[in-house]
Amino acid sequence: MGNVGAKEVPVLLSPDGRRIDGRKLDELREIRIRAGALHQADGSAFVEWGANKVMAAVYGPREVHPRHLQQNDKAVIQCRYNMAAFSVDERKRPGLDRRSQEISKVIAEAFESVVFAEEYPRTSIDIYIEVLQANAGTRCAGLVAASVALADAGIPMVDLLPAVAVGKIGGAIALDLKKEEDNFGEADLPMALVPQSGRLVLLQMEGHMTEAELAESLDLGVKGCRDIYEKMKQALRERYALRPSDRGAA
Ligand code: UDP
Repeated sequence: MGNVGAKEVPVLLSPDGRRIDGRKLDELREIRIRAGALHQADGSAFVEWGANKVMAAVYGPREVHPRHLQQNDKAVIQCRYNMAAFSVDERKRPGLDRRSQEISKVIAEAFESVVFAEEYPRTSIDIYIEVLQANAGTRCAGLVAASVALADAGIPMVDLLPAVAVGKIGGAIALDLKKEEDNFGEADLPMALVPQSGRLVLLQMEGHMTEAELAESLDLGVKGCRDIYEKMKQALRERYALRPSDRGAA
């Protein structure tokens, strides 16, 4: 532990380039994705990513609520990201705070770029993301879960949306930050990629980095997204390799 002011700051990077959990700078945490985890939703997915546990449920296309949001030329995509009170060490106040609203908004906007919404005018596609356990990168885990859930619901999309956060820790650029790295690192840069086109449809940044570091982060993040993309497709293959009669019980 180093000491900065009164705050205990953990050493995020060892001299041989290892992180607090032993990962190398370009290594992802372990990811497990299960498509079709809920029976009541039109589509769903459960993602365990490091110590994050995130459920996504998709409903629709269905009637729009509230009614005034209805659009005559396309479906409206609505997202509600929620962090359970028990998902973090210090109990989080339940309900929608500013952070949840912001995350819900950027995720809905990311999906607007890939869903063929004009195929379902006057309807709503509703995405619910519930964070059951949080350890940094939950908006990315939420995007991954929601993306697989949308595919599971049969919503036509250009592509799935893999997502990951890259950051700067101990002066180095690192893939997929965990909580201590997010808290004590110098920067955090979540992103979501359309793999087919290479376009980023979500890019946020907290902290500071140089232009060269930003370029390095984008490269590393895009590579990470491509690895996650393979896991997302595999989860859908596993789900749909089952016989149709097995699906309800899956
Ligand atoms: N966090 C928390 N309480 C909160 C919000 C966040 O403990 O009210 C933790 C949680 O582990 C979260 C991390 O801080 O994953 C980083 O939050 P951030 O806002 O950067 O979003 P995320 O990285 O989860 O997308």
